[in-house]
Amino acid sequence: MKIVIVGYGPGGASAAVAARMFNSEADIKIVTEETLESHRKPGASLALEVPDTSDLAINDWSWSELAKKRIEVLSGTSVIKGNAKSNSLQITGVKGSSTLNYDRLILATGGIPDVPDIPGVELPGVFTIKDMADTSRIGKQLSGMNTIIIVGAGFSGLETAERLISLGKDTHLIVRSRLMRRQLEEPMSAELLLRLPRSLHVHTGVSPTSVSGNGKVDGLMLNGKKLEADAVLFMTGVKPNVELAKQLDVRIGPLGGIIIDKQMKTSNDNIYAVGDCVEVNDSLTNKPLLLPVGSVAARAGRQAGVAAVGGKKIYEDTSKRLQYDRIFGTDIVCIGHSSTTALNMGVKTSVQYIHDDAEFTKVALVTDHKGQLIGGQVIAPRMGARLGYEILERVESGAILQDKPLLKPRHERLRDYLETTYGPIR
Ligand SMILES: Cc1cc2nc3c(=O)[nH]c(=O)nc-3n(C[C@H](O)[C@H](O)[C@H](O)COP(=O)(O)OP(=O)(O)OC[C@H]3O[C@@H](n4cnc5c(N)ncnc54)[C@H](O)[C@@H]3O)c2cc1C
Repeated sequence: MKIVIVGYGPGGASAAVAARMFNSEADIKIVTEETLESHRKPGASLALEVPDTSDLAINDWSWSELAKKRIEVLSGTSVIKGNAKSNSLQITGVKGSSTLNYDRLILATGGIPDVPDIPGVELPGVFTIKDMADTSRIGKQLSGMNTIIIVGAGFSGLETAERLISLGKDTHLIVRSRLMRRQLEEPMSAELLLRLPRSLHVHTGVSPTSVSGNGKVDGLMLNGKKLEADAVLFMTGVKPNVELAKQLDVRIGPLGGIIIDKQMKTSNDNIYAVGDCVEVNDSLTNKPLLLPVGSVAARAGRQAGVAAVGGKKIYEDTSKRLQYDRIFGTDIVCIGHSSTTALNMGVKTSVQYIHDDAEFTKVALVTDHKGQLIGGQVIAPRMGARLGYEILERVESGAILQDKPLLKPRHERLRDYLETTYGPIR
């Protein structure tokens, strides 16, 4: 059985490994335009400051580890055409052009940076991060520059800001409304803002109207005022990369992503798709949803890999947000829906906040009209991931919040700990 996977991001790499675990005989190949050995786009901003990007490879998915699993990686290779009738792809790369046949194809082609359509975005000095090679190249170009503007305050914008600050750059962050507006409740955004370093200049409530410059960037126009800069980085999200899927006549959904079922199968029985290029089915409403998150891509990849080699197992929750990052010394965790993403799907919510002053931790818990927990967020100096998993467990078990409170007051937690360790306390 020939399995071809297009893409070496978290979706493609995890699909390959899962396919191998379930089928020791299959011929498994990954085709990727990437030239650097690292799937680590979620950590791509690290490449801005790490000279040797091979240091960033995740061991399990490094090319040598994949080779040990008999998974061949055709790097620096583009799929330029797909033919679903003959189950074949035309590829071109460092080794020339050829045709690759498949029995099962997994598309993990990721997303394309979604840059606002404003004048000046084509000027030298405007950047987007598409892959590791991009980031590494951008890092070299930025080394001679001082003032850098980042547009977009999601995880990737904040991560990139952290790298630039650590490189000593005069860094500005442009935020249309508030930090991580879609993932975080308003008070959580405000809490996060308080924890950012003063050296990062955060401009909230502004949108760029054009990039200014004559031959190269010299600034960004914001509500009629110019903010001078040597470079502008747009970290404004991605849209699904479905060019190859369209050639293969695979069905595309209303949001522009590939339509898939629970096994990650597309409208063509021989083709699966995962990651930023697909529309997932929201587990709360069953409506289509774009969820361009690395951990979601990795979980979906595992499902597609298993299904592509004939496995029947269905992994639940390939469509639930679980994002954790540590940025500027703060753990930021987002689970499931926020009130904003839920409202976008037509679901009204209530939000309960827990502020643990002793631990300097703030938690938001999002419930639907029945009081069922559908999401949560954590901002904490440490142990955020642990709290995040507690929330995830409750979301997955359909918990009603009153029955299973998340955080007891600190003195009660201490008492519980002492009682389980030393026996009852009177
Ligand atoms: C700076 C940055 C920071 C981020 N931080 C986080 C984070 O902290 N946590 C998180 O969960 N997510 C994060 N993300 C998002 C995350 O990186 C993506 O959701 C994830 O990489 C998507 O994985 P994927 O497998 O769908 O595709 P991608 O990782 O985008 O990979 C797409 C692959 O497809 C290949 N490809 C596409 N078309 C072709 C073709 N025609 N021929 C050959 N190859 C092709 C590309 O070469 C590439 O290997 C971040 C993103 C960025 C940009």
